[in-house]
Formats: sequence, C-alpha cells, structure tokens
Amino acid sequence: MDYSLKLRALEQANLRRKVHCFESPQEAHCVVDGRPMLLFASNSYLGLAHDATIKKRVCAALEKYGHAAGGSRLTTGTCRLHTELEHVLAKFKGTESALLFNCGYMANVGTLSALTDAHSVIFSDALNHASIIDGCRMSRASCVVYAHTDMDDLRAKIRHIRPETGIVVTDSVFSMDGDIAPLPSLVQICREHGLRLMVDDAHATGVLGATGRGSAEHFGLEHDAVDIIMGTLSKALASEGGFIAGKQELCEYLQNTARPFIYSTALSPATIAAALGGIEHLCQQPETLAMLQNNVRYFTEQCHAHGLGNMIRGKGETPIIPIIIGDEGQAHKVSQQLFDRGLFVPCIRYPTVKKGEARLRFTLMASHTHEDMDYAVHALKDILL
Ligand SMILES: *Cc1c(COP(=O)(O)O)cnc(C)c1O
Repeated sequence: MDYSLKLRALEQANLRRKVHCFESPQEAHCVVDGRPMLLFASNSYLGLAHDATIKKRVCAALEKYGHAAGGSRLTTGTCRLHTELEHVLAKFKGTESALLFNCGYMANVGTLSALTDAHSVIFSDALNHASIIDGCRMSRASCVVYAHTDMDDLRAKIRHIRPETGIVVTDSVFSMDGDIAPLPSLVQICREHGLRLMVDDAHATGVLGATGRGSAEHFGLEHDAVDIIMGTLSKALASEGGFIAGKQELCEYLQNTARPFIYSTALSPATIAAALGGIEHLCQQPETLAMLQNNVRYFTEQCHAHGLGNMIRGKGETPIIPIIIGDEGQAHKVSQQLFDRGLFVPCIRYPTVKKGEARLRFTLMASHTHEDMDYAVHALKDILL
C-alpha cells in the first residue's frame, strides 16, 4: 500500500486528520498548540478534569498503590479501589452489580461479542457509536441496522426476522448529534419480543437525569428496565475506563467471557481514584450538574436568538450541540476561522458522520461562563451569517 498516496487522497477530500496538542489541563480556558484557547469540544462536561479535591484523592492512591496495576483484573491487577468502584457504580446506576473495563470501547466490544453467538441477532441504531459497530462486527451474530431512533422501523425489522434470541443496542445520547434515544419505547419493544436491551450511557452518565445517573433516570424508568447499561468514566466523570451495570449474573458472566476484560492490564489505581472522586463530586455537589444544565439552556437560547437556530441539530437537551455545515471543506474552514479567534471547536466529518453532513460539534461544560458562550455565539454569527 502506498501510504503517501492514500494520505494525499484524504487531504484532497478534506478528510485528513491531525492531532492538536494540549499544554494545559482540559479546562474551558486552556492552551492548545501553544495558543490560549476557549474550549468548546471537551467531553469533560462537568469540568472536573483538574479538580483540586479529586487530584488529592488521586495523589493519595498513587502514594498507597503506586502507578501501575501490574496485571490483568483476573491475575494481579485488582486492588481495593477497583472493587470499591464497582460497588459504587452499581449503587449509582441502581443495579445489582457492575463490571469495569479499561475503556468504554472495550466494554462495548467485549460485551456484545460475549453475549451473542451465531444464532443471535443484534438490532443496532444507524447512528450508534463506532465501538458498538465494532462489537457487532466482532460478534458472530447477524446485525440489523434500524433507522435512527425510528421505532416503527425497528418493530418492522423484528417482526420480519423473528429472532429466537437477540439484543437491541443503542446510544442513549448520540455522540455526534446530541439527541436522546426513546428509551421507554425501546424497553416496551424488547419486552414484547423477548429481546434484551443494551444502552450506551457514555454521554448520559453524569449528564442526564435530575442527579446525573443517566438515561434511565432521565426517563424515570425503574431500575431493571434496561438489561445491560454500559457507561464510561472518561467523559463527565473525568477519568478513564468503561463499565457494564446490570444483574450480578450478567457481570459475573462477562468477567469470565469478555475478552477485553480478561486479556488487558487493569486500569491504574490512580485512574480508579479519579473516577471515585468524579462520582462523589456529582453526588455531593449537585450544583455542578445544575450549572451544566443551565449552560445548555443558555447556549441554545442564544443560538436561536442570533439566527443560528436552523443550523443546530437536536433540541438542546444535552451538552452536545452540533452545528451542521455540510461540506467537509467548508466545515474545516469554519473550524479554522474559529481557531483563529481563539475558539477550539474541531469539525467532525466522514467517516465519523455521513459524507455531506460535516459539522462543528460544540460541547458545553459546567465551567463555561455566559461571557464564554456569548463570545462563541458572536463569533459563529460573524463567520456563518
Ligand atoms: C466515547 C464513547 C465510547 C467509548 O468510550 P471510551 O471510554 O472513550 O473508550 C463508547 N460509546 C460512546 C457513545 C462514546 O461516545
């Protein structure tokens, strides 16, 4: 394969990607590529990536346990903090049990491939995260993609296929569109057809619901309505790692069969301490979540007030607010113009989203001020209108 030829082709299609280098903590005001920037692109929604209390807890874990786990979870990699976090997560999500994975990607891939076989069918929303798509590919199940959040299409596909056993899997908050899956209908459909429901709460954990417990809390569903809840510690909770929450037997089964759980070194104790700190902050300082939810409301209102309403996708229910540009080259250019004004908002393009649907993906943090958001809305207005 001629790499340079392939790279040039990507460049010409405006699809070549590069990393940006942070020289500061992941905060609203940060330093990127050597320049001071206002950040509207982080998944650290609660603004906890540089929190003094959490850092103390991380340092204490570092002192007590050192900085490496030294083995996989089933060999030498489990310390007291791993089991404590699993208990805390189960309580947080209201399930019997929880199982940690090294990241959300591994939780999705490992779970989907461990819970299905050649007789299973996985029904997957068209806009599900890449880690769900890869989990479907790695499983031996047949995969059926239904139109995005379209319950009629899902029902029709289930009726047509009549699977003996299967899973319906969906993001709860869609990572590139910021909209929310219709969980109550999904629960109903799964019950009617004897299918299990798996929900990816990566962008809902610490974000949705009155106390940030996620999509089930947002919709007021009872605790065991969703069979398999997947979540991440890497977004609002300001650490790293993924998890599955559900019945005790489910978690124990995954502990014995999910290959990414078994064959990878455990997360370091300091990382686990950060996640414990993130959850504790969320539970003890509800004002941080309230600030995030207020910011979502304020930013959406301001976009509408300044004539940007028709470019926003979604109803402004989550901190992910995509501004659809369409053309990849144009989106890249707008992102660059924002960068020149000190605003860090990368453009998202194919293959993360469909061709011709390139967008700026604004994400809000609890720590953004009205002044920060006003500056962004005015810059957008100047550039786009
Ligand atoms: C980020 C994300 C993941 C992967 O989580 P990591 O912990 O970053 O590996 C999975 N699903 C969704 C919807 C995500 O946005």
